Amino acid sequence: MGIPLGTRDHPLRVAVVGAGPAGFFIVESLLKAPDLAVSIDVFNRMPTPYGLVREGVAPDHPSIKKVTAKYDRIASEPNVRYFGNVTFGRDVDRQDLRRHYHQIVYAVGAQADRRLGISGEDLPGSHPATEFVAWYNGHPDFAHRSFDLSHERVVVVGNGNVAVDVARILITDPDALAATDIADHALEALQSSRVREVVVLGRRGPAQGKFTSVELKELGRLDGVAVRVDPSDLALDAASASAADADRVAKRNLEILRELAGEDRADCERRLWLRFLASPVEIVGSNGRVAAVRVERNRLVQTESGYIRSIGTGEVETVDAGLVLRSVGYRGVPLPDVPFDADRHVIPNRAGRVTDGPGGPAIAGEFVSGWIKRGPSGIIGTNKPDAAETVAGMLEELGRGETLNPQSPEPEAVIELLESRSVRYVSFDDWRKLDEHETKEGRPRGRPRVKVVDVERMLEIMGR
Ligand SMILES: Cc1cc2nc3c(=O)[nH]c(=O)nc-3n(C[C@H](O)[C@H](O)[C@H](O)COP(=O)(O)OP(=O)(O)OC[C@H]3O[C@@H](n4cnc5c(N)ncnc54)[C@H](O)[C@@H]3O)c2cc1C
Repeated sequence: MGIPLGTRDHPLRVAVVGAGPAGFFIVESLLKAPDLAVSIDVFNRMPTPYGLVREGVAPDHPSIKKVTAKYDRIASEPNVRYFGNVTFGRDVDRQDLRRHYHQIVYAVGAQADRRLGISGEDLPGSHPATEFVAWYNGHPDFAHRSFDLSHERVVVVGNGNVAVDVARILITDPDALAATDIADHALEALQSSRVREVVVLGRRGPAQGKFTSVELKELGRLDGVAVRVDPSDLALDAASASAADADRVAKRNLEILRELAGEDRADCERRLWLRFLASPVEIVGSNGRVAAVRVERNRLVQTESGYIRSIGTGEVETVDAGLVLRSVGYRGVPLPDVPFDADRHVIPNRAGRVTDGPGGPAIAGEFVSGWIKRGPSGIIGTNKPDAAETVAGMLEELGRGETLNPQSPEPEAVIELLESRSVRYVSFDDWRKLDEHETKEGRPRGRPRVKVVDVERMLEIMGR
């Protein structure tokens, strides 16, 4: 019998794919595992770490981003290496990782958007909110996009925190955003924006809204913005009233919405409408681009399982708008050669163990965490218990000796592989150079950082 795995002389080698919250919480949880000697490599597609904390969380919510200080500490541990600018499926593949690691964790998040499935969805001027978010947050893949802000009204479809973020960024006085880390190109575009009204459409009622109370409450405090809610939208059917009674967040949201509906801020130049029981049924074009949205009034019905769903009443109105942002959810995409559940858009798994198809047998040595494990829901903190569950499964398999059996587990072998393929990978120290550059640029302008939004420029600053 050889030296047991997970000991100082024979550390467990783990590859984590994705340096978002899920990836970092996996590393943290492994580092805390008692009596485990582990050596972890984290691969990330972008040179910059943190996933949606950098590329999703709204620029006017800086306190949320403080979690990165914890991730920095995790990445500084001597047995953790960061390989940024390495894409799984392009630079390394599943067979490579199986050759070099005892365990693999996929933590790649949900990289695409869901569709509405209505006519006009692909007209110029209709975009997934995912792209708008990535644009204002300086994601290099979206930095060159443009959004037509020359019309007075924008329609945002969706009723979750992302819809609220997007609406808030569009309607906030750009001077208030100038002190944030919003991408420069977005700040400039918003400074010359003619948008003065944002209409947020929720398919179901106010009791079913998916936003958190803090996000909703914040809307009422935006300077120079009148938030409008039609009081008749707040009259609840019996099923919604009893569901809301049993749900603390829904109850609080209704209180906030009632306060907002009662406010009279007629003097404000900027308006934000929160509409409920309203579904887009068609995006109407004129001269080849978005001109309006046809919106159907819904009513709610309760299914036998208790779910409250909306159905159209046939009553349709037309809302003029120059831009439509569809915020109906993020969607996981398959990784090459890795099992995928095409119905749920996740990597099929049982409590974090990758399975060979939905409901299939577990594949030893391969795990999953975060949005690609459970779907795009939950806040940053939700990924921590999610990662703990996955790590519990990893340790259990390790205890049973069911890991992969890599041919070359030595840490240097991975570097050799990347170099043999001329992959321009970056380390966490390289990222620190970029971080320092960005924060230094921000300082004289009273901003937390000025984001670099071009990968080549990032690599140049990192000296790569
Ligand atoms: C717009 C928006 C705003 C949000 N705001 C908040 C908020 O204010 N507060 C809050 O608590 N939560 C917020 N969330 C939720 C939070 O961001 C998520 O819960 C969390 O980021 C999910 O973590 P994850 O690691 O699964 O995915 P991600 O954060 O998406 O991380 C996945 C990582 O994997 C990398 N990756 C993807 N594909 C590959 C590949 N092929 N090879 C290598 N690497 C790859 C990505 O580049 C990324 O770094 C927000 C989410 C969104 C979308």
